[in-house]
Amino acid sequence: MHEMSLCENIREIIEEQAKLDGFSHVNRVWLEVGPLSCVEPDALRFGFDVVMRGSVAQGASVEITSSPAKAHCLACQTTVQIQQRYDPCPTCGVGPMEIIQGDAFKISKLEVV
Ligand SMILES: [Zn+2]
Repeated sequence: MHEMSLCENIREIIEEQAKLDGFSHVNRVWLEVGPLSCVEPDALRFGFDVVMRGSVAQGASVEITSSPAKAHCLACQTTVQIQQRYDPCPTCGVGPMEIIQGDAFKISKLEVV
């Protein structure tokens, strides 16, 4: 389950940010999880609760946001919405497609005290 190690990364970023900005507790964390990022939201929530124990984000709630995946076709130069990473170009059927949005996994916002 790689969600645990992703949560450990998040914890490090939050702890680092807490030192820089001088906050002592995080109430809520917004995470942007792209549909192509292979992150399972339920596993993420579970891992988050476990990993954040003892950190400034202990007990923080998690809001998961997601925007549709988009790719740009290098053959016909169109930008389309895709469901899967290796979908062929729906316009020309040739591809290859370059992912321009949807594989992100990052903190988009923190609500701190
Ligand atoms: Zn195309």
